[in-house]
Order: sequence, then C-alpha cells, then structure tokens
Amino acid sequence: MTRGPRVIVAGAGALGLTTALALADAGCAVTICDPADEPNASAVAAGMLAPVFETVLDGGEAADLDLLLAARNLWPALAGRAGIEIDRSGAVAVGSEAWLAQARAGLARLGLRGAELPRPLLEGLAPGLAADVEGVLSREDWRLDPRAALDALRQAAEAAGVAVRAEAVDGRGDADWLVIATGAGQGLAGVAPELRALAPIKGQILRYADRRGGRVSLRGEGAYAVPGGEGLAIGATMEPGRTDAEPDLAALAPLIAAAERLFPELSGATFGVSAGVRAATPDGLPMVGPAAAPGVVLAVGARRNGWLLAPLVAQIVTACVTGRDAGPYAARLDPGRFAGRRPRGKAA
Ligand SMILES: Cc1cc2nc3c(=O)[nH]c(=O)nc-3n(C[C@H](O)[C@H](O)[C@H](O)COP(=O)(O)OP(=O)(O)OC[C@H]3O[C@@H](n4cnc5c(N)ncnc54)[C@H](O)[C@@H]3O)c2cc1C
Repeated sequence: MTRGPRVIVAGAGALGLTTALALADAGCAVTICDPADEPNASAVAAGMLAPVFETVLDGGEAADLDLLLAARNLWPALAGRAGIEIDRSGAVAVGSEAWLAQARAGLARLGLRGAELPRPLLEGLAPGLAADVEGVLSREDWRLDPRAALDALRQAAEAAGVAVRAEAVDGRGDADWLVIATGAGQGLAGVAPELRALAPIKGQILRYADRRGGRVSLRGEGAYAVPGGEGLAIGATMEPGRTDAEPDLAALAPLIAAAERLFPELSGATFGVSAGVRAATPDGLPMVGPAAAPGVVLAVGARRNGWLLAPLVAQIVTACVTGRDAGPYAARLDPGRFAGRRPRGKAA
C-alpha cells in the first residue's frame, strides 16, 4: 500500500503526466485531474526533443543548451519506463548558403559542429527537398510521437497506481501537495499568483497526411518539418497573446510559404491544421518548484520545449515533494525568480 504523501496533479499534458508517473514511482499517492477532452498543447506538438537546434535557432546561450541536454539525457530512462519510442536519427538544418552560415555560426558559438551532408545523402534522408538547399546534421536532436507518448504515459501512470479524474482542480483540498501543470491555463492563479507571469503563445502546425517527409527532422528558415505516423508535420507559428486554438489561415500564410520553399511538391497539397497554446515565462524557461503557497508546486511555462523538458521537470517536482535534492537545475527554474523570492529547499 502507498504510504507516501497524497498529491493532486492538475493537468494531464506532457508535464503533468510525466510528473504523476515519477511521483507514483517515488511512492506518492497520486491523483491526476484534467477536465478537457480537447487536445492540449502536448497533443498537437511536433514532438522534437531538440536541445541543439532549439538553442541555436531560438538565440539561446550555452547555459540553456546545458539544461536542455540534461533534460534530453533523461529521456531514454523515461522512454524505457513508459514504453515510448524515441527516434534518434537526428535533425538537419536546411537552407540557403547564407542562412546555413548563420546556423553554423550558432553551432560554433556553442562549441558544436554539425556534419555537412553531401547533397545525395541529404536527398536520401529527405526526399523531395528543394534542389537549392544544403544541410548540416546534428545527431543530438531526437523526436517522439506526442499522441503515442501521451497514451503511453497515461497507461504507465495508471499501472503505477495513479488515479485519473476528468475534472478541473480548484485548490489543494485535503491533499498534502498540489502540483500545478495546467499549461497556459490561468484557472489556478488565485492559488498560485506566480501563474500570472505566464504569457500565452498560440502555435499552429500543419499536417500533410499523405506525405511522410523522410527520416530526419528538418530545421529550415521559417519552418521545421518532422516526419511522423500522422504525416509530415510542418510547424509552427508563434502568435504571442493568443489563447484560441482556431485555425487562422492569415497567420499561417508565412508558414505555408516556408513549407513550400522546403518541399516544392507541397504547393497546393491538402493539409490539416491543429493549434495549441504554449505558456511562456519572461526568461523562456519553465517555472518548476515550490510556489509561495504552502504545499503547492509549479510545473508550468515550458514554452516551445515541453516535451524535451518533461523528465527534468518531473525529477525536480518529485524531489520537492519527497524532500530530496532537486539537482543542479532547480535554482534556475525556481518560480520565485520572477517575484524576487530566493530559491527554497536543498537545491543550490
Ligand atoms: C504547435 C506546437 C508545436 C510544439 N512542438 C514542440 C516540440 O516539437 N517539442 C517540444 O518539446 N515542445 C513542443 N511544443 C511545446 C509543448 O507542446 C508544450 O511546451 C507542452 O505541451 C506543455 O505541456 P504542459 O503539460 O505544460 O501543458 P498542456 O499540454 O497545455 O496541458 C495542460 C493541461 O492542463 C489542463 N488544465 C488546465 N486547467 C486545469 C485545471 N484547473 N485543472 C485540471 N487541469 C487543467 C488542460 O486541460 C491541459 O490538458 C509545441 C507546442 C505547440 C503549440
């Protein structure tokens, strides 16, 4: 019988489910609640676990890369635990010579070098790619299928004893701990005012169901292309301030144009659109750890990298709840950093 603390996890996205599983494995009595039957951001995501190109193309620093690599390095164990398949074929930056020069400079700034791909090899990895682009491969960026991963995490959590409830959480109730993993939602801001630091960024993603897109993820100018079971995914818009998940063709126009530059055969092809809302903090890193309110822990604000960061978030939250060392990244992610609070707990 479980004797550990009773924990309610609010939100069954990538962060909530991964955290619920880790808490159950640590001996906690966990209930995870989520009222929504509509796809959340985790379900519509492309599924890239991309420490290198997310840092290079998003203007990140070496310290960000270090943190993202640490998160990615936790994935093989989580994947083995939950039965999630990870593709490690890598990702290729593709584009004009001028654009690739910038990508190479970004890699060099971080002390990295990609492999220059001869054109025939590039065509083998990504059939149909525009004739005038070149490519630089990094094997450090991996990927998974988000919907399959959500199903696998849910099943593993339930098998580990996590109770799943289709309801919204409005407070800690009589639980020992409340873990808030509600994405961009503000419903629990009364319990944890730290949530008000989150800004929504809508993301729309295209899926070309009858295209496979080759064997690797591609990172191009204005678009990425990720092969997957549901077809080729082309993403994604960044629409700050928007909280709706409605398809918006006007906002999609630059993405469609970028997709057609990468794969000319996509011109006029049929695609589906899905949209989700990312939650972003002022410094782009998530808020993970104790909230000001007693017994409340945050696991929110993962912006573009929620899948990548999920196992690190789960590890830190579990350490907070069980009183263990939260590790070297906890201080950097402490929610108190936006309220001038000092990090609490054992984390240095
Ligand atoms: C188009 C797009 C592409 C992306 N691609 C990638 C990618 O390739 N790689 C990557 O790492 N990340 C990617 N991301 C980012 C990633 O999807 C997010 O960072 C991640 O999904 C956030 O997960 P989450 O669990 O915090 O939130 P969510 O997935 O949004 O889940 C939050 C859940 O909380 C629930 N909830 C809200 N309020 C309550 C309440 N009061 N009680 C209970 N439940 C509640 C909601 O119903 C929701 O299901 C992408 C995002 C988008 C939009």
